Amino acid sequence: MRVLFVASEAHPLIKTGGLGDVCGGLPAALRARGCDARVLLPAYRDAVTHAGDLKPVARLELPRLAAPVTLLEGVLPGARVKFWLVHFPPAYDRPGNPYLNAHGHAWHDNAARFALLARAAALVALGRAGLEWRPDIVHCHDWQTGLAPALLAQESPRPATVFTIHNLSYQGLFPHETFTALDLPPRLWSHEALEFHGQLAFIKGGLVFADRLTAVSPTYAREIRTPEHGHGLEGLLRHRAKYLKGILNGIDDKIWNPARDMHLAKRYSARHLGAKAANKAALQLEFGLPDDPAVPLIGMVGRLVHQKGVDLVLDALPRLMEMPLQLAILGTGDAGYETALRAAAARYRGRLAVRIGYDEALAHRVEGGGDIFLMPSRFEPCGLNQLYSLRYGTVPIVRHVGGLADTVIDATPGNLKAGAATGFVFGAPEPRALTAAVGRALALYRDRRSWNRLARAGMRRDFSWRHSAAEYLELYAGLVRAKSPRHGRSTGKSGRAKIKTGNRG
Ligand code: ADP
Repeated sequence: MRVLFVASEAHPLIKTGGLGDVCGGLPAALRARGCDARVLLPAYRDAVTHAGDLKPVARLELPRLAAPVTLLEGVLPGARVKFWLVHFPPAYDRPGNPYLNAHGHAWHDNAARFALLARAAALVALGRAGLEWRPDIVHCHDWQTGLAPALLAQESPRPATVFTIHNLSYQGLFPHETFTALDLPPRLWSHEALEFHGQLAFIKGGLVFADRLTAVSPTYAREIRTPEHGHGLEGLLRHRAKYLKGILNGIDDKIWNPARDMHLAKRYSARHLGAKAANKAALQLEFGLPDDPAVPLIGMVGRLVHQKGVDLVLDALPRLMEMPLQLAILGTGDAGYETALRAAAARYRGRLAVRIGYDEALAHRVEGGGDIFLMPSRFEPCGLNQLYSLRYGTVPIVRHVGGLADTVIDATPGNLKAGAATGFVFGAPEPRALTAAVGRALALYRDRRSWNRLARAGMRRDFSWRHSAAEYLELYAGLVRAKSPRHGRSTGKSGRAKIKTGNRG
């Protein structure tokens, strides 16, 4: 089985969030299971820097571009997964974030940058890139890759396509002029194709045209079919429900393993949980918090955006800061939240410490050094940080939503007694519900034996890619079977007729 991953980020080349973890970890897990998974992504300056040895292997024939487009081939460090970088300096050779400029605004030419990625993917997929390799499956991820299934759907024969929804709230919306400027097939301008309320929506290319859709957790796969979580695309997703499956993300347990983690002051395991204390002391020191082993230390790492419930934490702070706890936050995102958190850290010095920025190593140390990990997301497609927390014996407090609901088992008296509990789960997206959950955690924390049992129960859960990679393989195999000549059709029915999008009815 040959699978081409098309993505806008893949760890360790480039990463801004969970998407990067998945597009680095899943191909490696598939490869370990005998699947020839390869990755195609833009040759961002940072990706080239982290890529190691690269060699040009193909030159792509793409019309109307001012400079040649080449594919640079490399191997993902530590994973033996082959990748190709789409090298076109005018689009990708710039510093920093793959999506945003230094002022936090989307790059002005994002539509053209990711259309180019999709066009390059289509050429590789159709065997028109001059490579001696053609995929059976093209697996695309999030809006940046949405045009690839749409372009491939215009071709025959073609490989089957899978589109994974990591976050439906990012849709790649652009004005109609952009559609024209991109020179896309005119028939794609229709609300049954790429048009969404008068705009071009890259994500619809995936949602409408991919042969199969996946979402990154079973609960999220259900939630996105409702108005509350569908972002206007719930109608389309209901229409395609038969082809949509929730597959939980896994974690790369070579990278996220407290027994081997080189970022930690001291490595530890479920058997030697006591060694975690050294990491807590180191983290308190690093964050400038008092070195007090008795006070529970709550960690938080993530993008500082509305989705992650940062406002809930800010609103809950006056109450939280009356509780016997320390709070250490690492994140970057909306300027308003960054400013508010900095101000709060100044106000609650010694209790709340904030690091604004992106720091992979520090993220590991927060997981290793915290007693508790807070993730009060308003919505959460899967969430990886709660999985890392479980692995690190850092008990998660999460909202009952999306992948958080699928992975954390609330410490109710019954679940605690049965040894099933792994964290604390609250319902309403309200500061009061958040502080109540923190209060429950602090109460249990005082009972060290029960607390350690809870932490160990989380550490024993297996969230490695083992199960999820097998599910993806099954999905791919089903698609390849449906495409085989015996079945006599190209990719199986995919329910593409009469699409309704959200409130367009
Ligand atoms: P999302 O994909 O919505 O950002 P996830 O929980 O799925 O959220 O994944 C977030 C990933 O990004 C984790 O690996 C987390 O450690 C990492 N991350 C997020 N923000 C930061 C940051 N400021 N510094 C370091 N790592 C971060």
